[in-house]
Amino acid sequence: MLTALMRSFFPVILLFLCATGCRQNAPASTSANAAPVQQSAPPQASAPSQLTTEPQGPAWHIDANRTMQYTKEMVALGPRFPGSKGQEKVAAWLRGKLSKDHLEEDAFVADTPVGKLPMRNLVAKFPGSKDGIIVLASHIDTNYHLRNTTFIGANDGASTTGLLLAIADQLRGKKLEGFSVWLAFLDGEEAVEKEWRNENNTYGSRHLAAKWQQDGTIPKIKAFLLADMLGDADLGIFRDSNSTAWLEDLVYMAATRLGYQSHFFENQTGVEDDHLPFARLGVPVADLIDIDYGYNNAYHHTTEDTLDKLSTKSLQISGDVILETIRLLNANADHLPAAPPPAARVPS
Ligand SMILES: [Zn+2]
Repeated sequence: MLTALMRSFFPVILLFLCATGCRQNAPASTSANAAPVQQSAPPQASAPSQLTTEPQGPAWHIDANRTMQYTKEMVALGPRFPGSKGQEKVAAWLRGKLSKDHLEEDAFVADTPVGKLPMRNLVAKFPGSKDGIIVLASHIDTNYHLRNTTFIGANDGASTTGLLLAIADQLRGKKLEGFSVWLAFLDGEEAVEKEWRNENNTYGSRHLAAKWQQDGTIPKIKAFLLADMLGDADLGIFRDSNSTAWLEDLVYMAATRLGYQSHFFENQTGVEDDHLPFARLGVPVADLIDIDYGYNNAYHHTTEDTLDKLSTKSLQISGDVILETIRLLNANADHLPAAPPPAARVPS
C-alpha cells in the first residue's frame, strides 16, 4: 500500500512513450498501449503484510537455452497475423510441443475493421492439488497491418511463447502441490488496423475472458500473469498501473529473492494489453512487459524486432521470476487478497 501511495504522490516524468503519435519516432500502435512513462518510487521487497514471504515447494528454473530454441523455431514459421499461413503453422507447432499435455482450443471468428478474421487461443492445463488456477499468458500473433513487411516479432510474441513452452517443460509430469497452472497462448492481441483503439486489439483475450466468465472459470483464477516482450537483451520490466498492486509486489519479491530486482519496476506506465479483459472481471492481474525495446523503443513493431536483440539471460530472469511467483502464490493460497474493484480503475 505504501508503495502505491508513494507512486501516486511522487511521480517523476522521465520521458514519454505514447502509442498514438505523441512522439514522432514512437510506433503508431504498440502491442500494449502505453501511457506516459514515469519513474517508479523505489519498490519494496516485501509482500503485503498479510502474505507469507517464504515460497512453497521446490525451486524451479526454466531452461533458457531451450526457451531461445523455441523462440527461434517460432520465428522460423514466418509472420503469424490472423488469417495467415503462419497462424496455422504456429497452432500446429504448439499442438506438437504440447502433445503430452491437456490442451484445449478456443477457435472463433473475430469481427475486425478489415472484416472477419479467424483466430484461435490455445490453453494447456496442468492440474494442481489446491482449488484455484494461476494463468500464465502470452500472445502468439504478429500485426496484421505489418503483413507486407518482414516483421516476425521475435521479442513481441515469440519470446514469451517460448517462455511459456519452457515453463510447460517444468510443469509436465510433476504432481503440482499447489494451484493448477494454465498456460494461455492468446491470438489477436495486436491491433488489426495500425492504430490501437477501441476494440481493435486483444481479440483473443477478450474472447477467452468472456468464455471463462460464462463457464464459471473466472472466480477460480487466483492470479493472471501476462508475459510480453521479455526477451529484450536490455531487460527492464515496467510497473503497470493497470495491474493489481499486491500481485506486482509479489512479483517484485520473487525477483528480489532471486537477485533480479534491478530488472523490475524502475519505470511505471499504464499498459493496455491482454490482462485488461480479465482485470475488468475482477481477476488479480500483472502485466510483465518491457515496453522500451531498443533505444526509444525503436525496435518495437519494426522489422528490427529480430532474434539478435534477445538474450537467454533475459529469458532466464523472466521465466524464473514467474516460477518463483507461482511458489509465493501457493505459499499464500489461503489468504490471497482479492483484486481491487475492477471497473473503477481499469480502462474499458
Ligand atoms: Zn506488439
